[in-house]
Amino acid sequence: MGRVDSEKEIEEKTKAVWRKTKAKLDALDSQKLRLGVQIVFLLATLYTGWRFVLFVHYVRYGGQPVTRPPGVEAFLPLSSLISLKYWVLTGIYNSIHPAGLAIFIAIVLMGILVKRSFCSWVCPIGFLSEYLWKFGRKILGRNWVLPKALDYPLRSVKYLLLFFFAWGILGQMSVMALRAFIYSPYNRMADVKMLLFFEHLSAFSFWVMVALAVLSIPIKNFWCRYLCPYGALLGFLSLFSPVKITRNPKTCVDCRLCTEACPANIQVHKLNRVVSDECTTCLRCTSVCPEEKTLDLRLPNKKKPIPPWVYALTIVLIFVLVTGLARLTGHWKNSLSVEEYRVRLQEINRPIYNHTGGGRR
Ligand code: SF4
Ligand code: SF4
Repeated sequence: MGRVDSEKEIEEKTKAVWRKTKAKLDALDSQKLRLGVQIVFLLATLYTGWRFVLFVHYVRYGGQPVTRPPGVEAFLPLSSLISLKYWVLTGIYNSIHPAGLAIFIAIVLMGILVKRSFCSWVCPIGFLSEYLWKFGRKILGRNWVLPKALDYPLRSVKYLLLFFFAWGILGQMSVMALRAFIYSPYNRMADVKMLLFFEHLSAFSFWVMVALAVLSIPIKNFWCRYLCPYGALLGFLSLFSPVKITRNPKTCVDCRLCTEACPANIQVHKLNRVVSDECTTCLRCTSVCPEEKTLDLRLPNKKKPIPPWVYALTIVLIFVLVTGLARLTGHWKNSLSVEEYRVRLQEINRPIYNHTGGGRR
């Protein structure tokens, strides 16, 4: 009997601890959580970039061996899209940029399951953009909203870019063309070429970047809203996502704080459910709503909202699980040896290393 009591006691205590922990987790501020996740991904990106710089330095000049960080392939989305199509059509998960494909799959899954959260929770460019417009608001007193006549056509530019790449890759490339690209000298060295691009930045590229940064100060998320094809892909996929920002019109007092807080210029206070390709689920709107249980993130027909910490955890888990699975199944590190990198780096200015160079070598 005593044993049963103590077992019950333990169960009660465990439940009480969980209730307390859950209450604390539920009370976590969504914006602080988001900042935490953004910083973790930013640091991971910077670390990966730095390790890659060291790796290329080692390939060039020798010295202490440095292993190549496979995560650098996150910056090769077109190569990853080509790999994805090749994988689907042939069942071959190529070993040239396997991590790039794993990261691409994780991002696509994020888009379908947790909307365009990648843009406001994970992407370092999204993070930078956010702080540029916040800086703009500080120095200018407010941000500019482009007139609809300009905003709509500009928003379609990112879809045109996405369509251009998707049509070229998904619509036009045969299995033979996919294979030729994947194993081409250009693709093998695409990561190194990307580094060289930044090392020898042309004046044109430099000024384009400066212009984008300057435009991002008065205009919220200029790059993400108007130009990023990744944003377009995720915006499109997010329309199929079950989670949506949901407003209860019965308790809403029409203060419009949500609309003012929205970086995507969505009229949140007028909508019962935010179905927009521009919503990045940044949760800024829900964090400023003064009325309880009025504006939150929900699955359809669910009475309870999704707490921000559950949402944050889901985003991180999707990324960790997909990339972890790739590591466990040997689809993470590429098959290029340091020697191959060394030989190819010496001849990287030859035409076969241009994206039109083609050829298998
Ligand atoms: S609707 Fe809310 S969650 Fe979506 S972008 Fe606007 S502020 Fe962020
Ligand atoms: S912030 Fe909340 S109460 Fe105010 S308009 Fe938006 S949903 Fe309604």
